[in-house]
Amino acid sequence: MLVIGITGTLGAGKGTVVEMMQQKGFVHYSARNYLRQRVEQLGLKPDRDTFTFVANSLREKEGGDFIAKGLLAEALKDGRNCIIESIRNVKEVEYLRKNCNFVLLCVDADIKVRYERIVIRGSETDKVSFKTFVENEQREMESADENKQNLGLVMQMADFRLDNGKDLEFLRRQVEEIYKNLPINKRPTWDEYFLEVVKTVAKRATCDRGRSGCVIVKDKQILVTGYVGSPTGLPHCDEVGHLFKKMINEEGEISTHCVRTVHAEQNAICQAAKRGIALEGASLYCTMTPCRTCAMMIINCGIKRVVCLNKYHNGKESEEMFAQAGIQLDFVSEEVMKYEKQ
Ligand SMILES: [Zn+2]
Ligand SMILES: [Zn+2]
Repeated sequence: MLVIGITGTLGAGKGTVVEMMQQKGFVHYSARNYLRQRVEQLGLKPDRDTFTFVANSLREKEGGDFIAKGLLAEALKDGRNCIIESIRNVKEVEYLRKNCNFVLLCVDADIKVRYERIVIRGSETDKVSFKTFVENEQREMESADENKQNLGLVMQMADFRLDNGKDLEFLRRQVEEIYKNLPINKRPTWDEYFLEVVKTVAKRATCDRGRSGCVIVKDKQILVTGYVGSPTGLPHCDEVGHLFKKMINEEGEISTHCVRTVHAEQNAICQAAKRGIALEGASLYCTMTPCRTCAMMIINCGIKRVVCLNKYHNGKESEEMFAQAGIQLDFVSEEVMKYEKQ
């Protein structure tokens, strides 16, 4: 399932892009309708200033991403590809990026062209002079408060941009081009393909302190897989709880480790040993930076490349060892995986 968010300046043609995406089967969710409901519940007049005022005060009360949260919950329940119109603050983008397969579109056009459009449209929120129109826009473009509308910043965060400064055909051609390049229509690269498999393998993990998965690949073929779990036949953390051991680090700091499990990377290596599969020259894909023990095993298996989805909070030593051993180490995201009692 893909969630598209659309942002852009007033009168740029967000609604037209939404219609084009609806024709491609995307379900439309409207932030404006959601806000309109809230404005009406308060018994207020639905003009542009009231919308902005209510939106900002609800953001302060319920969080900067309250519209995105509400609309995403509806969309996920439905399960179909959808387009959310419109995204107006940074927190909404961050929430959607974190919680679903998300792409942000931005549509813009010359301000005079847009003003002419809204005059022709003449809806109740659009009856303003050109001067007011320009001022309103400047106000919405930036705000120091992260809970408020900050269209300028949101537009910069877009994955795809559309220029609607000419005719409908000009816009349609751009929409077609973007549609072809959406993650749902694009063939994954080899790395993306194996990392998707890692995510699926990780779902079988039995210790929630970093549910990790691992796939070892050679010549674009998967040789073995592994996930974090107890040795075969022994009870799992998910059933009997973790088996914690405390460790005193060099600086005297105490960290807690669960030692019940065989790590995803180790399990993949064990699977290779069990089946007599050589790992020399292979690439290893995994959830986060392998720990020190796994890193040493990876080096001695003759693995040449390690690709991690995220960083491990204690992965610095492994990074150094890989560098010394001449192993290429790549991260999809520099973000550190988080779990309790790290
Ligand atoms: Zn555990
Ligand atoms: Zn490990």
